[in-house]
Amino acid sequence: MSQKKIKLFNTMGRELQEFSPIHNDHVGLYSCGPTVYNYAHIGNLRAYVFADILRRGLEYFDYDVKHVMNITDVGHLTSDADSGDDKMEKQAEKTGESIWDIAQKYTDAFFEHTEKLNIKRPKIVCKATDHIPEQIEMVKKLEEKGYAYTTEDGVYFDSAKYEKYGELAKLDIEGLRGGERVDLAGKKNKTDFAIWKFSNDGKKRQMEWDSPWGVGFPGWHIECSAMSMKYLGETFDIHTGGIDHIPVHHTNEIAQSECATGKGPFAKFWMHGEFLGFDKDEKMSKSSGNFLTLDSLIEQGFDPLEYRLFLLGAHYRSSLKFSFENLKASQTSFRRLKNIIMELKAQDDQSALGEKAQTYLANFESSLANDLDLPGILSNLWLVLKDDSLSASEKYQLAIKFDLILGLGMDQFKEEKVEVSDELQKLLEMRQQARADKDWAAADKARDEIQARGYKVVDSPDGAKLEKL
Ligand code: AMP
Ligand code: ZN
Repeated sequence: MSQKKIKLFNTMGRELQEFSPIHNDHVGLYSCGPTVYNYAHIGNLRAYVFADILRRGLEYFDYDVKHVMNITDVGHLTSDADSGDDKMEKQAEKTGESIWDIAQKYTDAFFEHTEKLNIKRPKIVCKATDHIPEQIEMVKKLEEKGYAYTTEDGVYFDSAKYEKYGELAKLDIEGLRGGERVDLAGKKNKTDFAIWKFSNDGKKRQMEWDSPWGVGFPGWHIECSAMSMKYLGETFDIHTGGIDHIPVHHTNEIAQSECATGKGPFAKFWMHGEFLGFDKDEKMSKSSGNFLTLDSLIEQGFDPLEYRLFLLGAHYRSSLKFSFENLKASQTSFRRLKNIIMELKAQDDQSALGEKAQTYLANFESSLANDLDLPGILSNLWLVLKDDSLSASEKYQLAIKFDLILGLGMDQFKEEKVEVSDELQKLLEMRQQARADKDWAAADKARDEIQARGYKVVDSPDGAKLEKL
């Protein structure tokens, strides 16, 4: 595959732009990772499915992608305005667990969930707490260059000294900074933010470090600047996150990075995934506790890949409403897809793709190159599967190609073996006997009892089988 021209939507400038990497065919990709004080919710996971699709797309077009993702295990305060508690410390206080254990527990859970969703693990996963010296170095650099000042509770970045501050979010800086005098708690400007916070509030913190300015911990934004630069260089190709990161986190990352290095743009492309919410415009957020986890979907009988398919049905820049009804529809599609693919696989002979199949392939690549149009790819897939002028082998080969991006694990599809307990086996035999005896009432009763245990009976030419409901 040649490096086809890809168009991606750059939040910086708010337009589709042709993508070309800084260094030939190498792409540096940085994704803001999870804050690990709780389980990632299914909305958070949408942000990582988006980053996964982007990475898969770039790899499909033959780019060598160095994907880096951080783990925020310190410094993310409950308010984006540098006030409130550290989310991690707060959770530790609430549960009585050690903060390090909490971080490990939710980091492990995060990767368990992303693996179940076939999200490829980033090549480099870096924890904020493993990179304190790098963050201190960056604060030092900002101080040396005159961009930082110290207040009673920390070292702050002086946003008025960076002319382009707020460009990403198109912030109305005058409006934000002007107006009535507000209590800035020692800050010079409302948009200034902490790059190092002191632990001088009388509380002993579980996570704190010495620094030239006093014992404390890094501000949240500095970790992403320090770690992305460490692994990808002072400027790199693409930075991703959810749309909530635009006005504060990414705005601040850009300001401090470009001031520290004197180079720009810090990232050539800024890409943001839209939010997943509940029906009726309810927000899904970790801090409010109003959220669903992947485990809760699994407990309700859904396969994680059915959730992945649900997400792929919407473009990453469209907001999406979650409901079990919609997920159920994706479950039905996923099962249908699975049956079709398994049938096609049995007939695949790896014969060459004909002209019509090549056209489908070209359409797929155009959708992918058009800002990752996954809904377009999905509808193309269903057209392929329905097209009687294609051979079974062509259909299968196309589906497997599309799946390099869809990531539904199509080449692994196989009939699920149901582990049948003795009790279920007995009920199944009772039903078979009742049917042989034409005792329909007894057969129905056995079937209902099987259903009450979460299985349904499927009659096939090879006999009756059980399937999980
Ligand atoms: P956090 O763990 O809170 O730092 O968030 C992890 C990622 O999830 C970030 O990229 C957020 O922008 C993203 N995110 C948070 N809430 C949602 C949501 N409801 N839908 C989609 N993405 C979200
Ligand atoms: Zn970040």
